[in-house]
Amino acid sequence: MKDPIVILGGGPCGLSCAWELAAQGWDVVVLEREPRPGGLCATNTFGEYRFDLGGHRFLSQNQELTSRILDLMGADMLVSERKSVVMHSGKRFAYPLSAPDLVENLGLGLNLKALLGYAGELIRRRISPRDESHFEGWVTARFGRPLYDRFFGPYTEKLWGIPPTQISSDWAAQRISLLNLGDAALRLIGLRRSPIRTYARRYYYPRLGMGQLFDRMASRMCREGGIIHLGADVTGLDVVGNRVKAVRYHVDGQEYLLPCSWVFSTISLPALARYIAPQSTNGVETAIGNLRSRALRFLNIPLDIPDFSENTWMYIAEPQYKMSRIQEPKRRSSEMVPQGKTSIMLEIPCSVGDKIWEADGNTLFQEMSLELRSLGYNIDSVALDHHSVWVEHGYPIYHLGYQHDRDTLLAEVAKMENVLTGGRQGIFRYIFLDTAMEMGIEAAHQIMQGSRNLKHIQSIRTEKALLEIDALTAT
Ligand SMILES: Cc1cc2nc3c(=O)[nH]c(=O)nc-3n(C[C@H](O)[C@H](O)[C@H](O)COP(=O)(O)OP(=O)(O)OC[C@H]3O[C@@H](n4cnc5c(N)ncnc54)[C@H](O)[C@@H]3O)c2cc1C
Repeated sequence: MKDPIVILGGGPCGLSCAWELAAQGWDVVVLEREPRPGGLCATNTFGEYRFDLGGHRFLSQNQELTSRILDLMGADMLVSERKSVVMHSGKRFAYPLSAPDLVENLGLGLNLKALLGYAGELIRRRISPRDESHFEGWVTARFGRPLYDRFFGPYTEKLWGIPPTQISSDWAAQRISLLNLGDAALRLIGLRRSPIRTYARRYYYPRLGMGQLFDRMASRMCREGGIIHLGADVTGLDVVGNRVKAVRYHVDGQEYLLPCSWVFSTISLPALARYIAPQSTNGVETAIGNLRSRALRFLNIPLDIPDFSENTWMYIAEPQYKMSRIQEPKRRSSEMVPQGKTSIMLEIPCSVGDKIWEADGNTLFQEMSLELRSLGYNIDSVALDHHSVWVEHGYPIYHLGYQHDRDTLLAEVAKMENVLTGGRQGIFRYIFLDTAMEMGIEAAHQIMQGSRNLKHIQSIRTEKALLEIDALTAT
């Protein structure tokens, strides 16, 4: 009998691949390190309260994918509507940022400063153009120094943990929808009307949290003959020539060896490269060291009140706050909390091993309560408990030159005849969950056809016109 196809990681990408293969009658085994499937899209339960790893939404341009997901979920898929704000200097800005709202909230002084700053940039562009390869240069050239210093710079540094001069402008180009301040001003006075990238207000959300979708997908995949091993930590690959013969993994400290015909990896690209070539060249070693992720710590707080605010999420832009977002899970589905109660989920960017990552839960809770109070929310008498969740690979950090490092590692993967890589960690690309699923399905088709085209998986949804772009912020 042929060895099974082994999938590393049971998040949206790995599970979609496995489901597609199992549905077509192929032998497939998923190895997932966590005790539950879903990856970044899992939902954790604390008593009667449910929390995603940062609230997730499902939206896709791919009608076929959407129909499959709706069929899978049936009445358990809700259509929710978002309402979000950016909190800054004691003011609330509509989110996505809109020009009229900015003008009204910024006040005359800052509006004038912003316009002068932008005019200065227009002159500078002719005399000595800025280096736009990094985030700071790209944004300053388009929005002027005053807006960069006040909004874009501090939030970006808080989110990524490195100076914006070290962040590739790719990220800005992907995430900021207005062309420049001049474009925003023309829209404001009605002289420009062409559509900007659209912001979706409505989205799909499972009744019991995003994790419900992937629990169901895993069950369906198993019903169709696939296998998933949970708590299975992949620790190595047995490579002979240009083929992977078996995957090594640990469960409860015990090592297992699983022979394979193909490997589809959705674990981090540096980890995969290391398993393929434990002793590799200097270039590969450097790339492995350079490709890093921003981690996240979530503080989930059940509250003994019916409502916290009317917003699905609030962005906390100022750098003196450690939290970057406050989300209220009930705004996505009322079943995320018991009746008459609510909860909040605080998202705090950090790095593995730093003070936030290591902080004791009670200390962090005290600190975050103070931040909330200074934002105008006193939860002292209504907080019922608190639960921390840590995420190591939250956001791929697009450092300057990351493309070269990524290409170096993808070239290592390409040397293996029976290995494909995909997904957010596997391609080291800032993608949404629907794109991760599309990559998984594409990988399944390539495996079934016996034809490998890694570049095609990499390039899924790289088109400029994304369905939704969140200015300033990360998702
Ligand atoms: C805070 C936040 C909010 C987001 N919100 C949205 C949203 O609203 N909408 C949206 O579309 N997208 C959103 N995303 C993006 C979305 O989460 C990802 O695009 C999606 O989860 C990527 O799926 P994946 O399968 O590629 O990777 P992952 O979800 O990261 O799954 C990878 C899996 O591999 C497993 N793994 C890793 N190493 C090993 C190992 N050694 N052995 C075994 N298993 C291993 C992990 O445990 C994980 O389960 C958000 C992301 C974040 C961080």
